[in-house]
Amino acid sequence: MQTDSSTDFLIIGAGFSGLVVAQRLAAAGWKCVIVDRRDHLGGNAYDRVDAAGVLIHPYGPHYFRSNSQRIVDYLSAFTEWHHVSYTIKSHTRGRYWSFPINLNTFEEYLGREASTAEFSTWLEKTRIPISEPKNSEEMIISQVGRDLYELFFEGYTLKQWKRHPRELDASVCGRIPIRINRDDRYLSETFQALPKHGYSAMFENILNASPGVELHLGVDFKEARARWSHRHLIFSGAIDEFYDRCFGALPYRSLRFEPESFSAAQLHTRQAISGKPGFWQPAMQVNYPSPDVPFTRIVEIKHATGQQIDSSTIVREYPKDWTPDDEPFYPVPNAESREAYQRYEKLTQQESRVSFIGRLATYRYYNMDQVTGMAIAEADKLISKYGTQS
Ligand SMILES: Cc1cc2nc3c(=O)[nH]c(=O)nc-3n(C[C@H](O)[C@H](O)[C@H](O)COP(=O)(O)OP(=O)(O)OC[C@H]3O[C@@H](n4cnc5c(N)ncnc54)[C@H](O)[C@@H]3O)c2cc1C
Repeated sequence: MQTDSSTDFLIIGAGFSGLVVAQRLAAAGWKCVIVDRRDHLGGNAYDRVDAAGVLIHPYGPHYFRSNSQRIVDYLSAFTEWHHVSYTIKSHTRGRYWSFPINLNTFEEYLGREASTAEFSTWLEKTRIPISEPKNSEEMIISQVGRDLYELFFEGYTLKQWKRHPRELDASVCGRIPIRINRDDRYLSETFQALPKHGYSAMFENILNASPGVELHLGVDFKEARARWSHRHLIFSGAIDEFYDRCFGALPYRSLRFEPESFSAAQLHTRQAISGKPGFWQPAMQVNYPSPDVPFTRIVEIKHATGQQIDSSTIVREYPKDWTPDDEPFYPVPNAESREAYQRYEKLTQQESRVSFIGRLATYRYYNMDQVTGMAIAEADKLISKYGTQS
């Protein structure tokens, strides 16, 4: 194949990682070509308006949160924010429960009012003391005991990962807070907000602020490498794919999303359940931990976006095994897959003109703020290696 032309940096993947590193390098005067094999920018954080007019997150809900003011300040140059207190529920044993576990959940469990002191005493008696939890099962039973673990975590985790919580890092279930007060927020980070006009609008703004960046959609890595000669390659796709899966495919979990939209009239009949007009369910996300239900959660993102519209869309999420035709949504967080990844990581250490950034290239369960930080740090490193062009 003929090379189209040359660029300083060839960046594979137009998600958070690729766009942020491109913006930083372009600000230092470097020419960047960024490609993505999808037909849109934004990677898994992409959002769009569906046929019902509802702003949805087609690759699963993306709740932006961060404890880093530096990351928030950086992104704030490209978006205003819609502040959200993300709240979710769990649906099991035929009813909705307050979730993550908090004093309200405990009252629902007892079927009567209780105090923080009573909950705290109950937890002390019920939890199974484990000083250093080694896996997700130990992590949760050491905090709340076996019954609440089985009620909310065991079935959900088995469906999500097709692995028992015992086979997963403690951090998988440990990410979910457990509180003895009535704070029922899903997340604990200090900053919790969505880009006011959506993620895609924020990504467009990043691109528009970076005149040195050329974006090519529908272009795969191999085609791009042949088309653009480059000084340095930045790869944010799957690490095993980069090396043609020479040590075999790394384990991933994938997802199937099933959206369903409702008109205002249809939603009217759900009001007794959702508790407010214009909504299908009582919270932005409802988890379904029971093994009898094939999906893990139903998300109605309108609760979080605050979009003023009469209709609404819910998305049921079905976990599935990953095949080469699927998106590799989740690296599997356990010792065995980390070991498999380390064989590829060793190869990356021999590359002097390739950087690997983001969730898939580093095979880590990173959030959006973390990959933003990683992309900024990588750009700084490259600028100190190659200098600036301004
Ligand atoms: C279902 C789900 C829910 C999530 N929820 C949250 C959340 O609530 N909060 C949060 O902070 N984070 C969440 N995340 C994590 C978040 O998606 C990531 O942190 C972030 O999107 C990572 O950005 P990235 O650029 O590294 O990767 P990606 O967004 O995966 O972007 C990589 C891009 O590279 C492209 N690409 C890959 N290989 C090639 C190739 N060979 N050739 C060309 N292009 C290629 C892909 O098409 C993709 O667009 C969630 C992730 C998933 C899967």
